Amino acid sequence: MSIIDMHVHTEFSPCSRVNLLEALLKAAQLGVGLAITDHDTIKGALKAKSLSQKYEVNVFVGCEISTKDGQILAYGINEEIPLYLPAEQTIELIHEQGAVAVASHPFRSDRESLFEKTYVLSLDGVEVLNLASGGISREAREVAVSRGLAQIGGSDAHTLSLVGEAGTKFPYKPESEEDLVKLIKRRECSPVKVARR
Ligand SMILES: [Zn+2]
Ligand SMILES: [Zn+2]
Repeated sequence: MSIIDMHVHTEFSPCSRVNLLEALLKAAQLGVGLAITDHDTIKGALKAKSLSQKYEVNVFVGCEISTKDGQILAYGINEEIPLYLPAEQTIELIHEQGAVAVASHPFRSDRESLFEKTYVLSLDGVEVLNLASGGISREAREVAVSRGLAQIGGSDAHTLSLVGEAGTKFPYKPESEEDLVKLIKRRECSPVKVARR
């Protein structure tokens, strides 16, 4: 079993104050992996990955991509994707890279969420647990269940205090982004809150 916080912003996101090294230290302490999902860039994720062995934390490259219709989390991309495209197109580009697309906080009441598009887009998963946006979303869980999509959880940390405090449970530790993508495609995951040790 392995837990990964699937939604973490670092100082590479303009709105986040999370220091990358402090995030790695905290994740190591909690015993969770981190998917770094800065807004519209994978630079922070790549830097974190280069430090993952030293800090003994499993790090996965992700990104929270702004689309015309709301934000989408991508896991396993190697190249950044152009911003503010229609969500359909963003998801196509994510899939072309062999990566998976997950609706971020789909029903959060702001313009950054996909809302009813979550019911129709070619998503692989839905963020059911977003700690910064109030925890488990019943509506998000319902759409994930009814469409048979993966249920993802993460902290959406913009400050160190939330890093690693929520995540997604996998049956075993993914060794790479490819592994992580495979588990999400197989829906072998569930959202979980992390108790402090
Ligand atoms: Zn967001
Ligand atoms: Zn976010």
